[in-house]
Amino acid sequence: IQTDIDKFKGFWRLFKLGVPIDRDAGKDFLDVSDALLEEVAKVLEFPVASMLPREAFTVLRKSFDARKSQKEPKFVYTVEMDVDKLLNLEPRTWDFISRLEPKIGVIEHTPHEKVIGDLINIIQDNKKLNQDRVKEENGHTNSLSSYKLPSTKKAKIAVVGSGPSGLFAALVLAEFGVDVTLIERGQPVEKRGRDIGALVVRRILQTESNFCFGEGGAGTWSDGKLVTRIGRNSGSVLSVMKTLVRFGAPESILVDGKPHLGTDRLIPLLRNFRQHLQDLGVNIRFGSRVDDLIVENGHVVGVNVSDSSGRLGFSSEKLGFDAVVLAVGHSARDVYQMLLSHNTELVPKDFAVGLRIEHPQELINIIQYSKLANEVRSGRGKIPVADYKVVEYVKREDNNDTPQRSCYSFCMCPGGQVVVTSIDPSELCINGMSFSRRASKWANAALAVTVSPKDFNDLGFHGPLAGVDFQREFEQRAAIMGGGNFVVPVQTVKDFMDNKLSASNIPSSSYRLGVKAANLHELFPVHITEALQHSIMAFDQELPGFISSDALLHGVETRTSSPVQIPRNPDTFESMSLRGLYPVGEGAGYAGGIVSAAVDGISLFLISFCFNYGDIAYH
Ligand code: FAD
Repeated sequence: IQTDIDKFKGFWRLFKLGVPIDRDAGKDFLDVSDALLEEVAKVLEFPVASMLPREAFTVLRKSFDARKSQKEPKFVYTVEMDVDKLLNLEPRTWDFISRLEPKIGVIEHTPHEKVIGDLINIIQDNKKLNQDRVKEENGHTNSLSSYKLPSTKKAKIAVVGSGPSGLFAALVLAEFGVDVTLIERGQPVEKRGRDIGALVVRRILQTESNFCFGEGGAGTWSDGKLVTRIGRNSGSVLSVMKTLVRFGAPESILVDGKPHLGTDRLIPLLRNFRQHLQDLGVNIRFGSRVDDLIVENGHVVGVNVSDSSGRLGFSSEKLGFDAVVLAVGHSARDVYQMLLSHNTELVPKDFAVGLRIEHPQELINIIQYSKLANEVRSGRGKIPVADYKVVEYVKREDNNDTPQRSCYSFCMCPGGQVVVTSIDPSELCINGMSFSRRASKWANAALAVTVSPKDFNDLGFHGPLAGVDFQREFEQRAAIMGGGNFVVPVQTVKDFMDNKLSASNIPSSSYRLGVKAANLHELFPVHITEALQHSIMAFDQELPGFISSDALLHGVETRTSSPVQIPRNPDTFESMSLRGLYPVGEGAGYAGGIVSAAVDGISLFLISFCFNYGDIAYH
């Protein structure tokens, strides 16, 4: 029997294990409950669930499934089974193991487990492995020459921007022994919180410390959704998620089908992240804005920095570096201008613009969960506060051959609030944020329509920054329509469909700086407005009640992703125009969202620096 069993060893994944709501152990319970064990036993065709050793099973994923196609809403699990731990069972039950066979979408055999740790563990293990290898090679003179020994030079690298991409780039570089300076124009989270408070309460905008700029970048006062389109199970995504857990995120983000942190959890996490970087010797300079690159013979050799807080007491400083990682996000429009002054290639790219819709959260709960909506209890119950994700494809108005436009919900924030993300008082743009419990009485999401360089040109904007000019145009129009002072122009979704001003009874909004009735048809070119109307109609079919007099559209959502790409060498991540410059993250046009920006920041180390510099020559 033993020999037969050997080929079944390793790990088996069991998918689609459904547990009814009343039998589920609750959203923070990550172990295998009795009800889940019963489901496992059913799939394995094992007669007595209680005989299965609980320690042989690990929950990998848990989602809530309330689709209308389901007979009843339930929690759906993916569980991993370690056969070695099952072998502690009585030998007479082993025969069930020898009956295991893969079934597509139900059971999968993964003989060798791929253990992914957090980045810090990965790097420490990797360094140790390579040190041992070099030591071993030193004892065997014949093969010594086949390995590259680490050089003694310690690379000195600036990381500009402390958003997810910059923080993660700084982390891996510092872990590998690089001398890192992290330069951030905004303030640390403690001071940034006070600046944001002054904005939402007293309308005082600090242009260098706000919803976009400051420690943690645009992702800090956000919804903190950690969903990504780049593959939840990829090694780099898992290592980023595990690093977040190391710095204080709850372990549930590793299991939750739709992981979410919320601003209140992000702030302490960022403090721990900062402490770790400082312990590694990273020099963190808040309130310092990079105004220019110092370029010699086409190679970036440093940066010019100025005091953006007005408190540090220096006007401008030149700092020398071996390389500069540019992780500035896509609201740093001054950085794009500065890059152009060095003849850096910038390419306009597609993105999306639109409006933010807000419904009462209760309505979304009812649309999604029907009678179960009462069980949500503002995020305190077992059932998650309801969200939605919708998309509709719309034929282009001009040419049937060009790809269709899509209109989709973006950055949906259940139990959240609409916030102002302007960095200039003459422009108005908005987004959504939430706290971990998602307990507010509103649900908001952007409804965004894809736009391309042709749209920019049609409006008279040309050149590498045409997309930025296009964004700015609508942000300025929205500011004027709101009447200034960050007041947001709004229209009920019903009136938007009928193209008429919302005269009275505007529903309440979570937006704290005031709303003003306006006809949002006057904001965008007609084809974008029509694409929105057409799509909203389709969304109402999918989510009956979506078009409601309680739903309010807010203008304007323009910063869904970068309007520009900074071309870089795909193998080294180095800018195609300037040696020694490494553009990463959302502002470089290679990421969108917290997790993908973080992954882009670490890829830098994986595919580039580790082959070039000092201690990080270990690979
Ligand atoms: P950023 O986070 O933009 O960071 C860039 C940093 O560079 C900033 O801190 C900035 O101050 C600094 N900087 C810029 N110029 C300079 C300079 N010249 N000198 C020094 N420093 C500079 N994504 C999600 O995945 N989930 C969400 O729930 C979510 N919600 C969001 C809510 C809001 C309100 C906003 C605004 C965004 C949200 N996003 C969300 C998007 C997400 O925040 C971004 O995709 C992500 O932060 C991009 O990371 P980044 O590191 O590339 O750039």
